[in-house]
Amino acid sequence: MRKIIAVVTPFILVVTAWTLAIKSESMGVAAQSLFSVLPYVFAVLAIILSTWYQNSNSFFFTCLLLISYIYMTVLSKTPAMLFETISILSVLLPINAVWLSFSQERGIISTYGRNKAIIIGAQVLWALISIMTKSSIKIPAEFSLPIINLKAPAIVLYIVCIFVLLMNYIFKGQYLSLIFVAVLIETFIMLHFAHRHLIVAIFMSSIFVIMVLALIEIFYSLAFYDPLTGVFSRRALEQEFLKLRGSYIIAMVDLDHFKKINDTYGHDVGDQVLKMVASVLRQYAGTSRVFRYGGEEFVAIFTEMSYNQAVFKMDNVRKLIANRKFVIRDKNRPEVKPDNVTTSHNAFQNTINITVSIGLSQKNNLLKTPYEVLKKADEALYKSKNSGRNCITKI
Ligand code: GH3
Ligand code: MG
Ligand code: MG
Repeated sequence: MRKIIAVVTPFILVVTAWTLAIKSESMGVAAQSLFSVLPYVFAVLAIILSTWYQNSNSFFFTCLLLISYIYMTVLSKTPAMLFETISILSVLLPINAVWLSFSQERGIISTYGRNKAIIIGAQVLWALISIMTKSSIKIPAEFSLPIINLKAPAIVLYIVCIFVLLMNYIFKGQYLSLIFVAVLIETFIMLHFAHRHLIVAIFMSSIFVIMVLALIEIFYSLAFYDPLTGVFSRRALEQEFLKLRGSYIIAMVDLDHFKKINDTYGHDVGDQVLKMVASVLRQYAGTSRVFRYGGEEFVAIFTEMSYNQAVFKMDNVRKLIANRKFVIRDKNRPEVKPDNVTTSHNAFQNTINITVSIGLSQKNNLLKTPYEVLKKADEALYKSKNSGRNCITKI
């Protein structure tokens, strides 16, 4: 549900901005003066949030948007200058959106951050010089129109960039790409009305609100979701413990000989194995609450099931994982067959058999807090390990 809201909200804001822009003619003085400050307020908020969390991609895109706004409304004193600003922005905004959404996130105060600042700074400077040199040029005919038409290459560029960003969101799950799609749609509409300050201010306010909400969503996800496996994080588990009431069951799952898998096939294959185990847990444990407790340990919490049902579900998960062949790509095949890791060879591919050990415990009169139940589940897990692994123990 939260995911759906996060996806839909930016586009609701696009529609809201559009509706407000249509009504802008009839807006009173109060609304007009409000919109003269709102873009700056939300821009500063987005800049503070992205700096605070060292998210360079949203930081630099917000800075670029803010400078674009200043260039359009403050710097472009003549229509010729504004026309030049529109031409430049209609290229810079989509290109930078794509570049930043594909660019690795390595913080603002770092070599990567400095390089990004240089690239953005150079573009901004080039735009400034180009705009200033247009100050004495005659007014283009387009300015007599109610809408400024963008040049055909810019429209094509916008369409291509929006498509690329959408693909990046769909196939790589990059939320920031989706946000940039909403922002690009807004800037695309806004550039057509760049000579009408109120409409620009309305769209810019909405753009910066989208950036602020996106940053809040990104940081919420960072705090409460494990980025590798997509299940809840340890911090989310601690929050969950504060809320747990009534009867509940806690299961601890630990991968068997996982260190060996890492040592033999490399960390990347290890990561893929963790993702596979997390996805089986999510799909088949019969609970929506699966957490990554630590490295290769997961916790599942059951609140709406009897103890026997939970044990049955978890044993099913164990069997599913044990029976599932994990396929390794060629480049990761080890030269020597490792001990303790069962591999099957056939003419086409190399597979590893993954197994997990599980321990369960439930709340009762002796185990009153989630931490006590968790500790017992850990003891049960330890017993499973000592019983030869790939098995389940309940206490
Ligand atoms: P056991 O059957 O007794 O549980 O043995 P084990 O090898 O699974 O346990 P051990 O605690 O010795 O090793 C856990 C390994 O998990 C060590 C660490 O490198 C690896 N690990 C922890 N987090 C990650 C991760 O995010 N990705 C990968 N690839 N490996 C991880
Ligand atoms: Mg472990
Ligand atoms: Mg282990």
